[in-house]
Amino acid sequence: MRPTPRAETFPANTPAASQVFTTVLSQGPLPRLEVARRVGLSPAAVTKAVRPLIEAGYLVEGVDEEARPALGRPANLVRVDGGRALFIGVKVTGDEIIAVLTDLCCRIRVARHLPLSEREPKAVLAGITDLVQQLLGEADGSSAPVLGLGIAVSGDVDRGEGTVRYSPFLEWRDVPLAELAAMTTGLPVTVDNDVRALTVAEQWFGAGVGLSDFAVVTVGAGIGCGLVVHGRVVAGAHGVAGEIGHVTVDPAGPLCHCGNRGCVEAIAGEAAIVRQIREATGAELPDAEAALALAREGVAAARDVYARAGEAIGRGIATVANLLGPERVIISGEGLAAYDLFAEQIRDAFVAAAFGSAARCDVRTHPLPFDEWARGAAATAIQSFIGPDTSR
Ligand SMILES: [Zn+2]
Repeated sequence: MRPTPRAETFPANTPAASQVFTTVLSQGPLPRLEVARRVGLSPAAVTKAVRPLIEAGYLVEGVDEEARPALGRPANLVRVDGGRALFIGVKVTGDEIIAVLTDLCCRIRVARHLPLSEREPKAVLAGITDLVQQLLGEADGSSAPVLGLGIAVSGDVDRGEGTVRYSPFLEWRDVPLAELAAMTTGLPVTVDNDVRALTVAEQWFGAGVGLSDFAVVTVGAGIGCGLVVHGRVVAGAHGVAGEIGHVTVDPAGPLCHCGNRGCVEAIAGEAAIVRQIREATGAELPDAEAALALAREGVAAARDVYARAGEAIGRGIATVANLLGPERVIISGEGLAAYDLFAEQIRDAFVAAAFGSAARCDVRTHPLPFDEWARGAAATAIQSFIGPDTSR
């Protein structure tokens, strides 16, 4: 067995250092002056924050030969040395565990998938541990240490305590996952809600780069939402900010697993769509793929169910736009496979329900495979490593 990786800490545990590092990570390479402008700090404060990070090898500074101007002095650019450290990200779905090994720039080096036949915490933990050991083996050939593990799980997750309070798809309640996984892997562990983890990845490397206010809405087994307000991923006082899946859009609508009626998820979640199409057509439908196939064949009752799902999602997005006024809403998730069946309804319901200028919000889609969700989990581990916690 591999010895426990040496504990290494980030050399500058200040808000300025983590802000500078995150800016260079997501927007670099940049000249120091530009870093200062983007984070709103003085050049002297940036120099102070950068020095220990360069000494420890996390940041490097030098002339970018490719960008050397024809005239004038070439600018010294600061960038992250991706090969300096490694991280592991894990995403747990209802039937699969996906794990990725990334470098410090959160670029995926290796991805591994493991089918999940049982959902009890013990079985899932064994699967996570197995995949992490495999990836630690892959990392052995590299000189860089593995400095953290991020795990993303759907549902109500308390990142501060590292506890999954309630995950409907896994049927978990109060599982201290961070503590358990730290014991089995020997790594520092960050556990977060999966959509929030994906939102961190979108903020750093995806369709949210450079935006101070945006939302990620995921459609699929559940309807989730990650919110970035003033540049921060919001968790809220109770860790459940952005639960648009349980916004009521039809008080007389179908019963939701949360106990209420007519939630967005009770109309547009994968299981809800399959059940409604089954009821409307009497067809035997084993899964969402079969439901989608029926709608693609042109069965009107099946297409209507997708249309109503799109309407519910559009209203949910309008609720986000009316409350927070994000610049952009990014729709993602495995449910995008059916996007052509409800894109128009999402757009129409959004425009109808968004108030005034809120409708100017840029609503776009960004399909992301589960590897990207696991990468988001690795991003939360990097975030914890560079601390202090800027995620709420
Ligand atoms: Zn609900």
